[in-house]
Amino acid sequence: MLHFGSVELAIANLTKWYGLSGKGSAAAYHCFRPRAAPRPWANVVWCASITPKHSFILWLGILSKLRTRNRIKYLKVEESCIFCTEKETVVHLFFGCTFTFNVWSIVREFEWIGFPRAATTLKSALKWLKKEARGSCWRQKAKKVALACTVYQIWSARNRKIFENETPRIAEMVLKIKIHVYKTVFALFPQSALQIVHP
Ligand SMILES: [Zn+2]
Repeated sequence: MLHFGSVELAIANLTKWYGLSGKGSAAAYHCFRPRAAPRPWANVVWCASITPKHSFILWLGILSKLRTRNRIKYLKVEESCIFCTEKETVVHLFFGCTFTFNVWSIVREFEWIGFPRAATTLKSALKWLKKEARGSCWRQKAKKVALACTVYQIWSARNRKIFENETPRIAEMVLKIKIHVYKTVFALFPQSALQIVHP
């Protein structure tokens, strides 16, 4: 009853569905089916210029579905971040950790990205991107690709440290990000790609 607001409205709807000769059950299903909350950032994350595996990690991160250590307590592993002593959560790993802070600090130095210091979570970063990346010029593509690639590189560095005990080198990570953005922009805007490496 709460679904309709009143008994009268409930009866009115039931009567309407009953009179739909065979289509009433479909109308009732659409009325009662649970609807997922809209994902305003979906178009930004799942766009053709971003490498699918980068989109996938970014998407899981935004939904807080990445298996950070706070989410795998059942495996009896330590909850602390592999790069520091804080608890490893998505928010900590991508923006709270000193290690990732240093990665973002260098990425922010790319003249073309204009990534704001106020972006301190994946959601706030996506909010910025949604506003900044409207349109189809090379800078807008580069911003999307760089953000998704940086998130992927951080996740990848974290996994290599945990599973292979490989200490990440920030300069190498940033170089990989820059090369990836350059290649993507070059494929779409060959005349502008040089501005990625020589702004
Ligand atoms: Zn940390």
